[in-house]
Amino acid sequence: MSMRVGTGFDVHRFADNRALILGGVEIPAARGLDGVSDADVVLHTVCDAILGALGKGDIGDLYPPEDTASQGIDSTLILQKVLDFMNESGYEIGNIDITIILEEVRLKKHKETIVAGLVRLMNLRDDQVGFKIKSQEKLMAPEKSCAMCFATVLLERK
Ligand SMILES: [Zn+2]
Repeated sequence: MSMRVGTGFDVHRFADNRALILGGVEIPAARGLDGVSDADVVLHTVCDAILGALGKGDIGDLYPPEDTASQGIDSTLILQKVLDFMNESGYEIGNIDITIILEEVRLKKHKETIVAGLVRLMNLRDDQVGFKIKSQEKLMAPEKSCAMCFATVLLERK
């Protein structure tokens, strides 16, 4: 069986008057992440990991930030495009392991909802998705508050 591995990283800063969308789920919060799209740092990281595993660049290549098509785009649509691309390339996800790092929002109580959303969006089993929440140990000043995300994905030839 042929396997390919990929890693993803993304970061977005918190800003006023933005919804917080993580893994396609809106999380109740005072502020959300800023960005050209809905700034879903989790899905962007997942997309980059999959594209990296395929050796096909990153989501900035698919959706250049300066493109009008990227403005306010729902990141689940970006993920769908990347998954279609993966399927056409003859691969499926073996497993994906995600770590999100943020301070501003207590995410623990939303973890199950986010994981369930990721499982559904990628059509996987529960044991194929790892999702870990870490803090920034208060190293970020509030005006520089951000969410960082890392992921590793293993793809297997179908
Ligand atoms: Zn992003």
